[in-house]
Amino acid sequence: MRISGKAVAKGDLPQKTCPVCGRPFVWRKKWEACWDDVVYCSERCRRKGRGAKGAAARPTT
Ligand SMILES: [Zn+2]
Repeated sequence: MRISGKAVAKGDLPQKTCPVCGRPFVWRKKWEACWDDVVYCSERCRRKGRGAKGAAARPTT
């Protein structure tokens, strides 16, 4: 009898590198649905990364 691969090794989680702090971060449960869109390791870096570019070229509404 064989057990089909149900368990996922913890070391197998996907990784990305944050462009703001330059640190690698690992997949988290909360990113389950949007991992492809995740660029920054945290909300803090996300604001920082966006703010740097967005602040100057911000369109006025
Ligand atoms: Zn970061």
